[in-house]
Amino acid sequence: MQDFMQMCEECNPGEVEFLQAVSEVAESVKRVLDKHPEYRKAKIPERMIEPERIVIFRVPWVDDKGEVQVNRGYRIQMNSAIGPYKGGFRFHPSVNLSILKFLGFEQVFKNALTTLPMGGAKGGSNFDPKGKSDNEVMRFCQSFMSEMFRYIGADTDVPAGDIGVGAREIGYLFGMYKKLRNEFTGVLTGKGLEWGGSLIRPEATGYGCVYFASEMLATRNDSMGGKTCLVSGSGNVAQYTVEKIIELGGKVVTLSDSSGYIYDESGINREKLDYVMYLKNVARSRIKEYAEKYPEAVYTPVDPAREYNPLWNHKADCAFPCATQNEINGKDAQNLVNNGIQLVAEGANMPTIPEGVEIFLDAKILYGPGKAANAGGVSVSGLEMTQNSMRLSWTREEVDNYLGKIMKSIHSACMAASEEYGAPGNYVMGANIAGFTKVAKSMLAQGVV
Ligand code: NDP
Repeated sequence: MQDFMQMCEECNPGEVEFLQAVSEVAESVKRVLDKHPEYRKAKIPERMIEPERIVIFRVPWVDDKGEVQVNRGYRIQMNSAIGPYKGGFRFHPSVNLSILKFLGFEQVFKNALTTLPMGGAKGGSNFDPKGKSDNEVMRFCQSFMSEMFRYIGADTDVPAGDIGVGAREIGYLFGMYKKLRNEFTGVLTGKGLEWGGSLIRPEATGYGCVYFASEMLATRNDSMGGKTCLVSGSGNVAQYTVEKIIELGGKVVTLSDSSGYIYDESGINREKLDYVMYLKNVARSRIKEYAEKYPEAVYTPVDPAREYNPLWNHKADCAFPCATQNEINGKDAQNLVNNGIQLVAEGANMPTIPEGVEIFLDAKILYGPGKAANAGGVSVSGLEMTQNSMRLSWTREEVDNYLGKIMKSIHSACMAASEEYGAPGNYVMGANIAGFTKVAKSMLAQGVV
């Protein structure tokens, strides 16, 4: 394990997030490698950490003032052992190789858990859509796709959205792909309903995360009804996490963005959630305005000097981090546990640092890691691909039903793998082992490629 991580560090210097994600999986699958020496002999772990292909390119575009801007575009095609590459695009100024490699690596295991035939990938750009006009976003997306189109395709690599890439961006990206290729195919998921999208795709990650949380609670004969919940973020995943929690009888008291968070002790009800959706999806504004409209809520701006995030220091039963990676540090995790948290389900990818994960596991709370808990999004993306191939559209009920079944089966797979390898109830180990085993078996069968 030490030799493996040392080799990984030497090959990927300074890629902090990527090394963090690899180290967690490596720790979990030690037991699998001991039981299956054939994986070690075939150097499956060494091959899994090396992306099959990385594409990095220049994205020049012209802003509304007529000035030329330059961003960097990426696609990390991590692993295609079980299906075409699949994973979102992220547009955010923090995007770099390490972040996209960590996300691509996580995606491989997550996609394997969904039961659907999808390999893992991730991509995006350091472009920041915040504060840009629709025309600027369109020109950027067109320039980005004018290079990206060479590497993706309905049977090759099917990207979707992620941070900063929602329905608007997917529309502009799809339009450009269609023009360049002169074909109408399901090359992207998260499309509009009128042009090949699937019902429930916008809701899928948030709904799936709450379905997964419900499955975890059921193991303790409990449910979401009456639970007070902390949710971070206020984008796609956070919004639909809140919607499902409200529907199941829970109460959400927080939401955030990168500038600060709101605490609303009376709970974010349907009407208030509609306002958040308007603020974030239409006005493209800040969460601070929630506290201006609803004076019973308290707004706290981000203070970089603080060693912890006060959002995670409110008394609650369940926590749903739905913003970004490493948003829960050791102190935050300890605060959550001290305040009696019973469950953490990760809507975001890798939102908890390793020290925090240890604290949750030691406290024996129900802890659902992102690659299991937030797999609902990519699952419905997979169902969108199926509908596109069949040239059919399923009803809302049909897709939601599939989503519920998939989240149940991911939960069972995690439970079964954690029990088989002597760590019952440890969903981190369960998710890593179940995902790893499926991909490893496929790689072994396909030879050294
Ligand atoms: P959105 O862009 O819709 O929303 C992201 C939210 O997180 C915004 O409220 C944003 O605030 C906040 N945020 C982003 N970066 C930071 C930061 N560095 N510090 C504090 N807050 C931040 O993205 P999604 O909701 O789609 O994605 C959220 C998380 O869920 C990500 O980790 C993503 O990888 C993961 N995920 C998403 C899936 C999907 O289907 N969309 C599927 C599976 C996982 P602000 O507006 O100020 O930037």
